[in-house]
This record gives sequence, C-alpha cells and structure tokens, in this order.
Amino acid sequence: MSETTATLGGHFSNPTTFAGCPPGELNDLAAADVAIVGAPFDWGTTYRAGARFGPRAIRSGDYLGSDGERPHLPTGIDPFQVLGIVDIGDFDLVPGYVEESISRIRRGINRIAEQGTVPIVLGGDHTITFPNAGGVADIHGHGEVALVHFDAHADTGEAHFGELLGHGTPMRRLIESGAVPGHRFVQIGLRGYWPPPDVVDWMRQQNMRSYLMTDILDRGLGPVVDDALSYALDGASKAFISVDIDVVDPGMAPGTGTPEPGGLTSRELLHTLRRLARELNVVGADVVEVSPPYDGPGEITSRLANRAVLEILNGMAERKVGEE
Ligand code: MN
Ligand code: MN
Repeated sequence: MSETTATLGGHFSNPTTFAGCPPGELNDLAAADVAIVGAPFDWGTTYRAGARFGPRAIRSGDYLGSDGERPHLPTGIDPFQVLGIVDIGDFDLVPGYVEESISRIRRGINRIAEQGTVPIVLGGDHTITFPNAGGVADIHGHGEVALVHFDAHADTGEAHFGELLGHGTPMRRLIESGAVPGHRFVQIGLRGYWPPPDVVDWMRQQNMRSYLMTDILDRGLGPVVDDALSYALDGASKAFISVDIDVVDPGMAPGTGTPEPGGLTSRELLHTLRRLARELNVVGADVVEVSPPYDGPGEITSRLANRAVLEILNGMAERKVGEE
C-alpha cells in the first residue's frame, strides 16, 4: 500500500501554472529565459467579449502532466529542460479601464524584458499587443524588432469607436508610435471584409507585408512563410510573434470574439509557429483572442492556444540546442 498524498494541479485538475512549470516573480527573472504571463483583458473588443478568461483556459488546455520530461515527438527536445521557463501569473488589471490596464501591461512587459527574459503573454483581446510588442521594443529598441502577426484581421484601424485603443487598432498604434515601423510588419492569414480600402492604402504606404489567405491558397503556405521569414529577418535581428487565434478557421477555433470563416488549419498554425520560433530570434510573443465562453465542445480553441504556446517554446528550444 502506498502513502496517500495530495498535490495541487494534479493530473485531473487544472495546472496552476502553464504546463506545470515553476512559478516565478515579476521582479526576480534574471535566471529565467522565458516568463509566461496572463493579461486577462477583454474591454477592447468590438463584438463578443470573454477573452479575460483566456489565460485561465489556455493554462488548463493541457493533460500532459508536469512531472518529468515532455519531449516533443518530432524533435525529442523538451523545451522545459532546455529553457528556463516560469509562469508569473496574470497582470493585475482594472476591468473596464483600458488606458490604466494597458499602461500596467506595458510596465510589466518592460520589467520582464529588461531582465533579459522573453515574455510570452496569454491574452486577452488583441488590444494588448500594443503594450506587449511596444513594451518589448522599448527595451530592445524601437524599430529593431520585427512583428510577425497571425490574424484574420489587419488590426490597423485608425480608431476604435472614436478612441485610440481597442482590439482593431494595436498595429496602427505600434506603427504610429515608432515602436514597430510598418516595414517591420509581416501579417499572415488576412481575409474577410475588413479593413476598408482607405486603411489598406495606408497599410501599403507603411510598407507592411500582408499575406492574405488567398495568397496562401494560391502559392502554398510554405513559400509564403519563406517570404515572411526573409522580410522579418531583413535588417531586424529580433522578432515578436503575435497570434490572434482567429487566424485559424472557426471550425477549429470557434472560441473567439470575431470569427471569420476560411482560415488556417490548426496543424498549419502549429507547424508554422515552431518553424518561425526556430528561425527567428524571438524576444516576445502573445497568443490572443481566446474567448472560452464561445468555445466548442472539448475546449478545442483553448487547447489549440495551449499548443500554440508550446510550439513557440519548442521552436525556441530547438534554436537554443542548435546554437550550443
Ligand atoms: Mn487581432
Ligand atoms: Mn482577428
């Protein structure tokens, strides 16, 4: 007979940290390569809210257990053994107060990046990429970080119901502020009926690179990602990866605020993320727009978002092993 023991975050409970990795402290990250942090913010949405529950759902989209190793089947590499990864919990935000919350996120991201640690942010709606990528660029240099942006939507709107901050405007704010200039942007997966032609013209004037789903269908995903990589690497040694989960078809990712039919498959996203994280020097990432109240049976969207984070970590680990 074995002893009876009890463990928080056991096999049939939600892990208390991402993948059961060690907890960390925002102000004590010098030894950590990567800090996972949640930004439970959804008061920048235009349609269906709920992404404030994203961080919790992404963390719990996991049944792999946190004891021992979890090597990736294709590579044999366990990112949690190769990289120092901690979960520092969620930023404390003020529901309903956009500017205060955004400034708290930016200061938190600054704090993580200035300790030499890569923030990976669990969203939250896409408003948070303004402080996430902006906060990373504050430390690594405005104009020095490429932004690879997966999304059905360009998120380059001039205004959000007359206001500057919202989930349709973060890329415009990053460009206008100089943190990430337009020529450092690579967008993948755009489709549907937004933005309008005047915004598309503005995007062209900024020299943004945008690959529509129609480009991916015409040319194949591999060649498009080849191009995206060469643009992302052109003059920039560092990259931020922003994944709006609505880049994936709502048939595979229904739990999101503004679903747009006709997107990538889950496996296309996961494979592409690992490749990008292996081939780029990732200094930050976020996975956003997971809205659990709209998720399908089996929590398919939050599980996909969990694996999206894992594939980024796997690519980063492959890169580190390759450098050693
Ligand atoms: Mn978006
Ligand atoms: Mn979107």
